[in-house]
Amino acid sequence: MASASVKVAVRVRPFNTRETSRGAKCVIQMQEKSTCIYNLKQPKDAKNFTFDYSYWSHTSSEDPSFATQRQVYLDIGEEMLLHAFEGYNVCIFAYGQTGAGKSYTMMGKQEPGQQGIIPQLCEDLFKRIVDNTDPDLSFTVEVSYMEIYCERVRDLLNPKSKGPLRVREHPIMGPYVEDLSKMAVTSYSDIADLMDCGNKARTVAATNMNETSSRSHAVFTIVFTQHRHDQMTNLDTEKVSKISLVDLAGSERADSTGAKGMRLKEGANINKSLTTLGKVISALQSNKKRKSDFIPYRDSVLTWLLRENLGGNSRTAMIAALSPADINYEETLSTLRYADRAKQIRCNAVINEDPNARLVRELKEEVNRLKELLLAQGLSDLITSPHLWPVCVEECSLWDRNIDSPVV
Ligand code: ADP
Ligand code: MG
Repeated sequence: MASASVKVAVRVRPFNTRETSRGAKCVIQMQEKSTCIYNLKQPKDAKNFTFDYSYWSHTSSEDPSFATQRQVYLDIGEEMLLHAFEGYNVCIFAYGQTGAGKSYTMMGKQEPGQQGIIPQLCEDLFKRIVDNTDPDLSFTVEVSYMEIYCERVRDLLNPKSKGPLRVREHPIMGPYVEDLSKMAVTSYSDIADLMDCGNKARTVAATNMNETSSRSHAVFTIVFTQHRHDQMTNLDTEKVSKISLVDLAGSERADSTGAKGMRLKEGANINKSLTTLGKVISALQSNKKRKSDFIPYRDSVLTWLLRENLGGNSRTAMIAALSPADINYEETLSTLRYADRAKQIRCNAVINEDPNARLVRELKEEVNRLKELLLAQGLSDLITSPHLWPVCVEECSLWDRNIDSPVV
């Protein structure tokens, strides 16, 4: 089991045209891992924060301290992908006010060099799969993509499906979305097509339904399974990793953007998932002190579905997107404080191997232990003895046949 804190990064974007035309001032400064925010109304008021990464993307690539999409991927995306290959669940989520750069960081644009973490991670995943030369190792990749809006789940890979999908709980596997499409993919272009499809479904909803995209959470999930045939024991083993890539709804309070024409019922639910996420993070943070603290995962669809990724069986990273402009000072400060709290969450990730994989690993450890014993006794000749190994393998394949009835 690997106990690790949630990795937290912040990233500041360039001014947008509106900010430039209004002569906005930049209130963010970064140096290495630290981020400082200035309150222009009170010149001596500067607040400092330290994160795993502070990404300066306010300028352009000519600036040596500029953080590119590639840099962000290499620091965070690649690390999480490597954990997925180890067999851990992983999660990356983007937090921040609408327009701060969440979707740009997660999805980005199609132009070269502008792709976000999700397409880069998918490309890298298939590159590593293609590069594999081990004949005993094979992979399956399945993808789903959903949107949570007003506590209702919509399938972005099957946008015509009627009505919201139900969230249910499996006694062992935990919470899941019933009937959510799960597409098997065998290449990067497969996955890129699905991504496109889902992103389009998201945008269509955004124009039809009054900016839903800024109020909805998008969850892109990859279930990555590694199948290994172990020659020595003749066992087939599996390691499964769930990769959850989450573009959260805008964190601004619903009223600050003037939620025009929104129905009351929607208003009440609009940021329930985000409010609950905040409560979950606070509870997890204080959990260090009071172990029995109740964590309200069940209070919203988002936190219920991401339960394992928040303080559970997962390696998790959060990227908080920041606006540089003085006019967004309050929201940006609140994002920095949120990110600061998330730093203290610890997750206990375990490798998701099946019983066969565990057995193989334990058998190999046992073999090594015995080998060392022989070596220590000066009997190393026996290790290469032709008589010893066939017995061993035969015994193992006997176990193989008995695998369904546990070997005690
Ligand atoms: P959000 O998803 O948080 O609402 P977006 O990612 O859509 O915000 O970003 C708003 C706008 O700012 C988009 O036009 C996006 O392309 C641009 N943008 C955001 N971050 C960056 C960045 N790091 N570099 C360049 N443009 C960015
Ligand atoms: Mg967005």
